[in-house]
Amino acid sequence: MTTIEDNLQAQRQRVALACQTAGRDVTAVTLLAVSKTFGADAVAEAVAVGQRAFGENYIQEGVDKILALRASHPGVALEWHCIGPIQSNKTRLVAEHFDWVQSVDRLKIAQRLNEQRPEGLPPLQVCLQVNVDGGSNKSGVTPAELPALAAAVAELPRLTLRGLMCIPEPEPGFEAQRALFMRCKAVFDDLQRQMGSGVDTLSMGMSDDLDAAVAAGATMVRVGRGVFGTRPPKG
Ligand SMILES: *Cc1c(COP(=O)(O)O)cnc(C)c1O
Repeated sequence: MTTIEDNLQAQRQRVALACQTAGRDVTAVTLLAVSKTFGADAVAEAVAVGQRAFGENYIQEGVDKILALRASHPGVALEWHCIGPIQSNKTRLVAEHFDWVQSVDRLKIAQRLNEQRPEGLPPLQVCLQVNVDGGSNKSGVTPAELPALAAAVAELPRLTLRGLMCIPEPEPGFEAQRALFMRCKAVFDDLQRQMGSGVDTLSMGMSDDLDAAVAAGATMVRVGRGVFGTRPPKG
């Protein structure tokens, strides 16, 4: 059985190799450790070996861990990313506790986050979730809807628009995966042309396909099982 430390080391090497293969700088890609379903003790193990950025899908579970780590690791600045679906009644928890949110796909949610972001905190860093392949039961705006949503979000003073999160359907094989991720990259390039260089984050790629995502231009990969191991089935 490998430890979280070994896993993290292996995933960092994997990202580095993917960058090298693609002719990209290793520092161009951030590894987000997705700690959903794992406890604060698992997060603490990753923190002990230098991991600072964590992703959570389930908001209340994420907030519990944020508070636990703040108490157990005072003075260690962690960066918490909300990457799961957000219902209206959960926006306040996100606005008050997370540093980033990557799963915004409706203006109404963005407006609530903007209103509820406390004055004492820096603006909430936002990626819009985009659905490039039309996966029917999946969240995300279509590429056609994206420019209007991005322009509206950019007007909200307590949010900072940083980029996109994409979760394309799993495809068998590197080339098929890369082709889908290239479509995300094209949408991202359009967004950057529209909004300027403050848009710098393309979050795509998970444990099974991060190599293809890095090849296509991801700047952030979100790795759960590769770091923390197999998740218990959600009951
Ligand atoms: C669970 C999850 C991940 C991590 O997935 P793994 O396959 O465990 O690496 C990344 N992004 C999102 C949005 C997720 O829900």
